[in-house]
Amino acid sequence: MLSLIDLLLSRLASLLPSELKSNEFIKLAVPHRHSMLLSQRRATLIVNRVRMFAFLFAVLTPIWGIIDVMVFSYPLWLGLATFRLLACAAFVCLLLFYRPSGNLFDAYRALALLFAVPTLFYIASHTLLGEYQLTQLSAVVAAGYAFLPFVLMAGLAIFPLTLLENLVMASVLLLAHAIAGYLSWATLNWPSYAGGFWLLLLIAGVAALASLSQLAFMIALVRQAIRDPLTGVFSRGSGQEILTLQWDTARRHDTGLAVAFIDLDHFKPINDTYGHEAGDLVLRSCAQHMLSSLRSTDTLLRWGGEEFVVIMPDTDREQARLALERIVRRGLGVRPDGKAVTASIGLAERCTDFVESAAELLELADRRMYLAKTSGRNRLCFESDDAAVETSAA
Ligand code: GH3
Ligand code: MG
Ligand code: MG
Repeated sequence: MLSLIDLLLSRLASLLPSELKSNEFIKLAVPHRHSMLLSQRRATLIVNRVRMFAFLFAVLTPIWGIIDVMVFSYPLWLGLATFRLLACAAFVCLLLFYRPSGNLFDAYRALALLFAVPTLFYIASHTLLGEYQLTQLSAVVAAGYAFLPFVLMAGLAIFPLTLLENLVMASVLLLAHAIAGYLSWATLNWPSYAGGFWLLLLIAGVAALASLSQLAFMIALVRQAIRDPLTGVFSRGSGQEILTLQWDTARRHDTGLAVAFIDLDHFKPINDTYGHEAGDLVLRSCAQHMLSSLRSTDTLLRWGGEEFVVIMPDTDREQARLALERIVRRGLGVRPDGKAVTASIGLAERCTDFVESAAELLELADRRMYLAKTSGRNRLCFESDDAAVETSAA
């Protein structure tokens, strides 16, 4: 029985997107588990797709109005045309005034506006059409208006959304459908209304699957783009982006921001004596050792070769110094000959060092790392004169 359950579970697990690592599945469920860079890239993509959708709607909404003029009688087509022009103007505004800012809440607002406009248009046109007795061709075209919620629900598929976001969006659209049903309560054709609701639910399910698989690809692609393949920590380019974002946040809230430059000591002899593979192993284990001692809000990145940078938001110099000493005390790993790996570390902090930019902060940490190097290695330097070099970081 147990082996049958195991088999079933393993078969089910193989259905999950293989491009994701096991700790990444939670990112499919909720947005607050996304890293800063993933959120930023996703927000940009969502706003760009909203603008693409807005463009399509802005063009198609007035064009369809020509058919209204041909099949509906006078006051009705004019009412519908007015709604169409208002909707078109709203889409054009969305297209012109919304630019991707990288902020997820801006992206949510864009998405809400994009869906609010056709939803309002749908409720308004549905109410207006309900006041008329339509026959033959005009009844066929009027039935077409009822498809709008289905188009919107299917439209969710083009956005890389989490399960929670899909649920919220789908619930809002289902609610709009329910409101439209309530407004035309007296004349409601129950079987077709219930069938429509059921179809809307099915489309919501399929759209959510498409949306989640897009998100899975995006998570994997962003990971590959921002992670160093050898150690799995952030790569230099993405690290610089993170530093800039953290710098802006620290300045806005006037909080501390510490940056440490870490260069492993005498690393080249490891490669020379034991080979590149052994050197790679040491680098990997070093990154893991450092990661395990850092807070979840800290960022570790591989600057290049055997150099790492730690970004510590909301941290003053003293706290950063203690954290780095703790990392070194716990050990950076072992060399193939059994000796402990040591590092020269330079530390700089935004408030204490009165620096003006993220680049200057990093440069100062780098200079102090060199000072630690030239003062004898295996130590931490947190001020720019020799006196502030701690004789041993350990
Ligand atoms: P110091 O104490 O002055 O920092 O000496 P060092 O030997 O650590 O510094 P140096 O800059 O002379 O050498 C860095 C070495 O790191 C040289 C290079 O072969 C090695 N290295 C750089 N990238 C990698 C890598 O991806 N894998 C391995 N195995 N070695 C690397
Ligand atoms: Mg170096
Ligand atoms: Mg070195």
